[in-house]
Amino acid sequence: MGIAILNSRIYTGDPAKPWAEAISVQDGKVAAVGRNAEIKALCGRSTQIVELPGRLVTPGIVDAHLHFVSFGLYLQRVDLRDLTSISACRERLKAAVVKKRPGEWIIGRGWNEHIWTDRREPNAKDLDDLAPDHPVMLVRCCGHTVWINSMAMKLAGITREAVDAPGARIERDANGQPIGLCREYRKIIEKVIPPPTLEERKAAGLRAQSEALRYGVTGVHTCETLAEWDALAALEAERKLHIRVHHTLPPEEVEKAKTRGIELTKGSDRLWFGQVKLFADGTLGSGTALLHAPYADDPSTAGLECLTMAEMQERIELAYRHGGDVAVHAIGDLATTNVLNAIEGARKRFAGPKRDRVEHVQLMHPNDFTRFRAMDVVASCQPVHLHTDMLVAEKKWGMDRCKYGYAWKSMLKAGIKVQFGSDAPVEHINPLLSFHAAIARQNPAGEPKTGWFPAERLTLEETLRAFTAVPAWVSRKEATLGTLAVGKTADLTVFAEDLSALAPEKLPSVQVEMTMVGGVVTYRK
Ligand SMILES: [Zn+2]
Repeated sequence: MGIAILNSRIYTGDPAKPWAEAISVQDGKVAAVGRNAEIKALCGRSTQIVELPGRLVTPGIVDAHLHFVSFGLYLQRVDLRDLTSISACRERLKAAVVKKRPGEWIIGRGWNEHIWTDRREPNAKDLDDLAPDHPVMLVRCCGHTVWINSMAMKLAGITREAVDAPGARIERDANGQPIGLCREYRKIIEKVIPPPTLEERKAAGLRAQSEALRYGVTGVHTCETLAEWDALAALEAERKLHIRVHHTLPPEEVEKAKTRGIELTKGSDRLWFGQVKLFADGTLGSGTALLHAPYADDPSTAGLECLTMAEMQERIELAYRHGGDVAVHAIGDLATTNVLNAIEGARKRFAGPKRDRVEHVQLMHPNDFTRFRAMDVVASCQPVHLHTDMLVAEKKWGMDRCKYGYAWKSMLKAGIKVQFGSDAPVEHINPLLSFHAAIARQNPAGEPKTGWFPAERLTLEETLRAFTAVPAWVSRKEATLGTLAVGKTADLTVFAEDLSALAPEKLPSVQVEMTMVGGVVTYRK
């Protein structure tokens, strides 16, 4: 028995035949794709026929950069976004407290005192009566400030005697007593929160999976560690892993992974070990992205180098020695130059075709476009970041450099392979947020009116390719995934509206009608 989708609009991604009206799926594979009459003629009595007029069918959308299990854990946190008072936050928290055993941490996210009617910042006293036996940490919407209760302060050693960590601040009352509000302390507090158990990580994986499928995502490239791999492998063994997971690992885990039979570029068709993941620099917002010239708003710094050139090259060689490739985080223009240099050095010692990628590539040096292409390195970007980053980039880099910021069209024109992802849980997993950012180059409020550096706007087809064919190539699976050509695996996404007929600002609210992985419908609206 097979499925045939008729009377729809289908983007196949196949250069020989990019658009079609109908598709038939048999035994998990694309059996035929073409005009309605052609596909109808192939339908047997047992074929399930689905008519989907007005929708858009695409190859399965792949989110090529996120943190999958972390995203699932994040979804479980107490959601305080959009609440308009401290008492509303307390209500939400009360419901969470009864579900946790005494001593278990309660973590929340998204509060914003600017939209509260209280007109003040919160403190531990607002929490202590609600959760006297549970440590509580509530992260502000910015991710930098935390609101904690007395038990959390005690566990984290935040006392009157505690000295502020460098670059961080404990807010105190007139007597020097911490009040339960700390700036830049999240990482410090997280150190005393016990890591999630295998069962918790598995539950998070399932939660992330259903959210991904609901947004039409059939595959993800996750940047995590062996602990998350173990959870996903356990789900696969229980036949609960429906989404495809391309997993990167840090260099220090490569040997350990190998002793357990987990090898680069090998694995199943659901879970495989892709690149080794490295970091070349920090982030734009924190002013630690590594730049060729100093920051416009702080000429005393040009960012932070996470690894020396020798260290970076050594780690890239480790990946190559195991037959794999690398994914290197590089946000600033000098970080990208350094990565290209290190890859070039390592490739001199390890010949053979590589599928290396640079993560984020938010700012490029003009000289690096042709080099990127010549080395066939993939730019792995997250357009949704643009929604919040454009104003920060103008301030920190200056307008001259911003010309080469988030320059996806210039990358494509230079012949660079570009792939897209969400960076969830940093941003929402909904891929259409990135479609909007890439196509309109505006924030969700529609600013700036003509788009930020509008020459860099992409078409729908260019954006779709970055979510389908390119990530398949990066996974060395272009023979089976990434396009809807006959004989390929039937991973597909059906958007409830034809995206090509919509104004860009309408894209983020379009729903997914159906998600199919390997010919199996894994989500239906
Ligand atoms: Zn990330």
